[in-house]
Amino acid sequence: MNNFFIILGAGKGLRFGQNKPKQYFNHKGKILIEHSIDKALESKLFKKIIVVISKRQKKLIDKYKGKRIKFVIGGKERKDSSLNALKKIRNEKPNNVLIHDAARPNFSISLLKNLIKLLKNNYAVVPYINSIDSIKYKINKKLINLNRDNIYLTQTPQAFKFKKLYQLASKEKGVITDEASLFIKNNLNIKLVRGENKNNKITFLEDVKKPLTYYGIGFDIHKLVKNKKLYLGGINIPFHSGLEGHSDGDVILHSIIDAILGATRKKDIGTYFPNIKKFKNIKSPKMLKPIIDNLLKSNFYINNLDINLICEQPKVSKYRDKITKSISKLMNLDQDYINLKGKTVEKLGLIGKEKAIACEVIISISKYD
Ligand code: ZN
Repeated sequence: MNNFFIILGAGKGLRFGQNKPKQYFNHKGKILIEHSIDKALESKLFKKIIVVISKRQKKLIDKYKGKRIKFVIGGKERKDSSLNALKKIRNEKPNNVLIHDAARPNFSISLLKNLIKLLKNNYAVVPYINSIDSIKYKINKKLINLNRDNIYLTQTPQAFKFKKLYQLASKEKGVITDEASLFIKNNLNIKLVRGENKNNKITFLEDVKKPLTYYGIGFDIHKLVKNKKLYLGGINIPFHSGLEGHSDGDVILHSIIDAILGATRKKDIGTYFPNIKKFKNIKSPKMLKPIIDNLLKSNFYINNLDINLICEQPKVSKYRDKITKSISKLMNLDQDYINLKGKTVEKLGLIGKEKAIACEVIISISKYD
């Protein structure tokens, strides 16, 4: 087993648009560069793993102390970085060396095995995928269509016979974007093998960003009284009584407000709408509006809203579409994301005797971190 694995992680990641290089960004529970290190270790295919970094990363170095890992400081360009790493292992007389870009965390161990196997009869083995996009090429302001079956998008890890690669790399003066280019420049054969679609390069922040999801619960109950209009979900429902309260008593909208406040950890409805004169007889859609505006302004979006309306009458099935349509409008949320269930209480207690209506709500919201 005289194989070595070089991970290039000294790049600045300019397309990433963040203040630290992408290889130090968190991705699925660890920093990006660690995915490649861990997989190379797990494969047990390598005598040593060389990790090229731009400056000393104490935490990273400490984490891998005692393992078969060496950290090397990179150079100005990619080719300087990989040459630094090649020089570092030269004395150990490697047979094979694989060079990998830290921004590709998703390669498989079987790909590593295949590359090493094919090195028996080749100087250079490089994985590729075909393009799924149509490709145009511009020459002198004129666009030409390229046949995408003849286009090879090359990936890493790329595998080489050490001696040959070292010989080419140490005399290269120009700019190269990968080690395969060195072989092409020198008219040497490369063995191309099918790569993996999942082995994509993390280039933009969107590639690693994942939304954070929160849940909130809301509950409300109001007494039914004669000579008052019944409002549920922001609309008037014909009924023998209406809900008593400082406001219009809309138990659905009040529960939704509390669920949102719960999911965003912003206390409760009474904090924003206390029983003071200013809010006497306020319509509930007016209470919901600033809460929703604030939620959307903070870049949250709603995944799901589930409502249990607990009452003997009116029958929810009769008004379900009307009520969810109204909520959809008030919350600027597609009706498909809203579910309204009716729940009777077998004529038990105050709700069973049509003296009160209750409601409970669970909401799920997400935000990109
Ligand atoms: Zn209420």
